[in-house]
Amino acid sequence: MKPVATYSKPPELYDGLRLHQNEQTGGCSPRVLEALARLRADQISVYPPYSTALAACAADLGLTEDRLVLVNGMDEGILALAVSYLQRGLDGAAAEVVIPQPAFEVFEVNADLMSARVVAVPPRPDFAFALEEVLAAITPRTRAVILTNPNNPTGVSVPLAAIRQIARAVPPSAIVLVDEAYIHFGGETFVPELEAYPQVVVGRTFSKAYGLAGLRIGLLAGHPETLLPMRRVVPVYSINVAAAVAIVAALDDREYVKDYVRQVTESRALFYDACRRWGVHYWPSAANFVLARTGDRTARVLERALERGIYLRDRSNEPGCAGCVRVTTGLVEHTRRAIAAMEEVLCAAP
Ligand SMILES: *Cc1c(COP(=O)(O)O)cnc(C)c1O
Repeated sequence: MKPVATYSKPPELYDGLRLHQNEQTGGCSPRVLEALARLRADQISVYPPYSTALAACAADLGLTEDRLVLVNGMDEGILALAVSYLQRGLDGAAAEVVIPQPAFEVFEVNADLMSARVVAVPPRPDFAFALEEVLAAITPRTRAVILTNPNNPTGVSVPLAAIRQIARAVPPSAIVLVDEAYIHFGGETFVPELEAYPQVVVGRTFSKAYGLAGLRIGLLAGHPETLLPMRRVVPVYSINVAAAVAIVAALDDREYVKDYVRQVTESRALFYDACRRWGVHYWPSAANFVLARTGDRTARVLERALERGIYLRDRSNEPGCAGCVRVTTGLVEHTRRAIAAMEEVLCAAP
């Protein structure tokens, strides 16, 4: 029997500087804490209303509310997609899901859950989006194409023109998911094009730019009919009242996100400079992390960083990522600490 894909959750490391899961290491906006503190006992004892949260998200994205589904983190959105779109056909044939590599591991885990066939499109050496290869992988059995823009773990963007071409190439019953978990840091959103491309669904999370990973909230945006099968999977009260209140406050504090994005931009530049100094190859990133090829020094880099209380992510086992480490480049102060720790290994030896 084929081995089952399972997600290997990173160990629970919370004592040091977490630069391995691309969270906002500076925390959420203080306005979120104020909003949570204002929650009353009688708001917690009842099933939560979502109208205010939905209105805030709709206004933020410039969409009507019928084009949104709130989910308990994008992870739940991905699960809902798998459950609704990756079922076996009536003839018993497995659904096919096209996933350009390297990719966020959860996609494959959920596809496997549905016994779908993952059509993994290998990466190009520079991680430029492999459009022709993705188009060639689409068949009449394709039920979903899953893209992440900008991609995780590479930070490389997917051109909007490529997404349009893929959307036109999939069978009518298929869906194209554009996971925009990191779109705030430099990518170009597909949201304004959803009207023209009803087969595309955009996924967003409040875990990265907004610093709400602990509250678990994200959303799916797309045509109401395309969303319907996924809406049916998501439990009616999947979003808790704290998350519903928090996103309204988070969306309201534009300056907080703007400052974080500014720091990410500065952090990436600092990290690129360091890589050039070390002679380490890196991929220019549109996200809040950078992938760098530390080669045979990767294990020592990870170890030294850990000794300094800094967690980095080993991505060596991902397709095309041999000898690569992924470093969250968030607050400048934290990026400087990561660079200092890595420098101890990377400057010492050729
Ligand atoms: C972090 C991440 C997610 C998960 O988002 P949650 O809302 O925290 O579940 C989804 N997709 C990608 C590509 C991510 O990196």
